[in-house]
Order: sequence, then structure tokens, then C-alpha cells
Amino acid sequence: MRITSAVEILENPKKFPSDRKNYKLIKLENGLKALLIKKQGNCKDIEHNDTISYVALCIDVGSFEDPFEVQGLCHFLEHMVFMGSEKFPKENEFDQYIKSRNGFDNAMTECEFTIFYFKVDTEHLHGALERFANFFISPLMSLESMFREMEAVESEFQNNVNNDVHRVNQLFASMVRDTHPASYFTWGNHKTLKTDIALKDLYFIVHEFRKRFYKSNRMNLCIQTSLGLEAQQRMKNVLRQVKNEEAKNVYDIYPAND
Ligand SMILES: [Zn+2]
Repeated sequence: MRITSAVEILENPKKFPSDRKNYKLIKLENGLKALLIKKQGNCKDIEHNDTISYVALCIDVGSFEDPFEVQGLCHFLEHMVFMGSEKFPKENEFDQYIKSRNGFDNAMTECEFTIFYFKVDTEHLHGALERFANFFISPLMSLESMFREMEAVESEFQNNVNNDVHRVNQLFASMVRDTHPASYFTWGNHKTLKTDIALKDLYFIVHEFRKRFYKSNRMNLCIQTSLGLEAQQRMKNVLRQVKNEEAKNVYDIYPAND
């Protein structure tokens, strides 16, 4: 392990001899780990090309951390960070930025982790990454946006209510004892995010939940790009702004899980 200007160089992942990509695993001073992948000159990869860059971020928190009384909170938070940041305050600006630059983005909340990912024209990677990083540096998550995003979560729920996979999952969940997070309704909907909780309580709890769990030392980032070292340095300068913030205990309002 080497340490250069507060960036720790970690041991590279093992790879197959036929794998022509170069890997570099680093840990920034804020604890965020990043795997930088660069293709070698004669690397042939039918799915990926040099003009597109790929980014994925996995955060070590999922729906199992939802308070019992606010089921769907982690999924709701995943939606809320898209709704503007101090630096880029327009709602869904990132989404529009990506889609107008030959890209695609999405996110998913699982039981024990949350993943955000996107691809974009390489020449716009830095702009995309700056907008993306600000999801986690200073998201606004205003009351007005919360109101709108509740509708988006409800709409996802309604679109999937007849999906057999989700129905079976919820059937299994119903067999688990109530206090165990595997029994939760992790999706969230109007009932759990609107009817059963006051808006001011939801506002407080989603902000504190973010500070408590969307911390840089819980984040693992992966970037595949053809850009060189100078660009990587610019990326690091953006990513090191993600903080480990102090948070009030969200379970002070609602008790922790057993
Ligand atoms: Zn969703």
C-alpha cells in the first residue's frame, strides 16, 4: 500500500490474463474507494468503446436500514438526491445532462446496498461526474421536491403492483416476523411516505438518514474511461468533496430495528 498526497493506492484486483484493461484501486482521504479502469490500446471490447465512459457508485446502505415506521425511506432517498444540489439546483438536471450527451442513468435500492450508475460521452465525463458528485456533497431535497417525488415513488409502486416477482417477494416478506427488516415493504408508496407520516417528520428523517448513511466511507465508485491521468486527478478533486457528516440518530424518532 502506498500513500501519495493523501490518496492511498490499494492492491489491484486480480484479473484474468486475457483481460487487457488496466485497473487502479485508490482510497481518498474521505474514505471513498474508487476503481479506475482504463483500456489498453489494442483492447477489443464489443460492448464498450472509447467514446463512452461508464460510472457506478455503490453505497453501503439499503432498505434494511429503513425505520420500521417509514418503510420505503431508503428508496425515497435514492430518488431525492436527483432533485437538485446547491451547485446544480435544477431538479433532474443530471438526468437531462446525461440523456442529451448520448448517455443513460439509473439507480436501484436493494436490501443492503444502493447503486447509482450512468454512461456518457467521454468528453462530458467530468461535467457529468461533477453533477453526480453533488448528489452526495450538497443535495437540496427541498419540501417541494419531496412532494413531487412521493408521486414518482407511488407511480412506480402502481406500475409494479401487478408484477408477479414483486408480489412473490412481498409474500415472502409477510412470512417474516414484523420486527425483522426482511418483513418490510421496501418500495414505499403514498401510505408509508405520505399518509402515515407528517411531511415535516419525513423531511427531517430523510435528511438525517442521508447524513448518517450516504457517507463517503460507505461509497465504492467504479469508473471506466479512456481518459488519462490528468482527467483522473480532476475526478479525484470532485470526489474528495463528499463528506462524512455528523447526523442525528433517525431512530431517536423511531426506534432502531431489533
Ligand atoms: Zn425508484
